[in-house]
Amino acid sequence: MTRTASILAVGSELLGTTRLDTNSLFLTGELEAIGIPVVRKACVGDGWDGLLTELAFALTRAPLLCVTGGLGPTEDDRTKEAVAALLGRRLVRDGEILERLRERFRKRGREMPEVNAKQADVIEGAVVLPNRRGTAPGYLVEAEGKTIVLLPGVPWEMKAIFAESVRANLTGGGTPPGVHRRVLKIVGLGESAVEEVVRPVYEAHRGHDVTILAASPGEVQLHFAARGTPEEARTELDALEADFRSAVGPALFGRDDETLEGVVGALLKGAGLTLAVAESCTGGMVASRVTDVPGSSAYFLGGAVTYADLAKMEILGVSPEILEARGAVSEEVAREMAAGVRLRLGAASGLGVTGIAGPGGGSPEKPVGTVHIALDAADGTKKHERLVLPGDRAMVRRWTTSAALGMIRGWLMERGGAG
Ligand code: ATP
Ligand code: MG
Repeated sequence: MTRTASILAVGSELLGTTRLDTNSLFLTGELEAIGIPVVRKACVGDGWDGLLTELAFALTRAPLLCVTGGLGPTEDDRTKEAVAALLGRRLVRDGEILERLRERFRKRGREMPEVNAKQADVIEGAVVLPNRRGTAPGYLVEAEGKTIVLLPGVPWEMKAIFAESVRANLTGGGTPPGVHRRVLKIVGLGESAVEEVVRPVYEAHRGHDVTILAASPGEVQLHFAARGTPEEARTELDALEADFRSAVGPALFGRDDETLEGVVGALLKGAGLTLAVAESCTGGMVASRVTDVPGSSAYFLGGAVTYADLAKMEILGVSPEILEARGAVSEEVAREMAAGVRLRLGAASGLGVTGIAGPGGGSPEKPVGTVHIALDAADGTKKHERLVLPGDRAMVRRWTTSAALGMIRGWLMERGGAG
């Protein structure tokens, strides 16, 4: 297939300062995977003239045009109308879609507002792409040798329609060769350290567009791609992944959609162990990430945000003498926080985190970014790490959170001896 695509994201909010067009990123990945490179993308507001102009121009650039957004029921949702006008086709109200819309509202005990009826209007000759997750179906229109795919703007509706109807329509149900991407995720190593260990690997596998990037504070990612059918690409990506894994070692924690908190959760659950956390400078961010994972109640018992010395003493039993002698940001306090929360909650493992997130509060011996993380486990394992992290307050806190999760993962890996 030598087809190419163009993407148009419709929505005035996408031209503002608060919304990013992420739909085109998803569509680009999906289209590349079936051998359709994206040669142009654009965002346009809801205004009629701009919409017509952009649609017409995008159609001159590639034989396939994917449009997202503006299929809703309101006055400013006019993507379908604009495409119909451009192609000189009529909109025809579809009784079946209308009935399905009414049914959808009825099920929720509501009467369908009349404005929604226009979501049952179909461009003459278009294929309707059902939307299980929302009211606006998608459409596929063939005209003058071009294919136009219209999808709702709501990301999770758009994704489902693409997977359920668009992909098969574009491939004819086959599995054409395309670009397939993979991401490997690393915690506890900096970008340049990763670069150093993986360079021999990507030099040995040229042509895979390997990119190393600092994805978020404390986490580095390796992105790479392979071309071919899904089968061929998987074989190549697996080979590359195996080499990257042996080069990076245990710091590599996951791939693609896997998250550090998800991996930690799976390890805890697999081992039948529980976790409790005591946090100072992260203010609950560790607990928040741990509980981002569905089912975390199976292994996460809880925690405490102990910001003041008093809270560290009262809630965790950190000794006043140690706080006095060493200061709240110290190895000893981190260790006592971890042990204190573990014992109080009867957990198999406890994490303690204390640090200076800044911008104030630093000193020559303890500069801003100084963080102590400790682990205390019922099996007698004790760990401690002191980090001096770069960046602003937000970065220090996020980095610390990843490092704490990295520490618990490290312990679980050693225990399980898992690779
Ligand atoms: P619906 O039929 O559900 O009303 P729609 O097709 O009218 O959908 P919009 O009203 O344009 O879609 O957008 C709905 C939501 O989806 C908004 O929250 C919007 O910010 C988000 N959205 C729209 N386009 C994009 C995009 N390109 N990337 C990410 N989010 C988007
Ligand atoms: Mg809109």
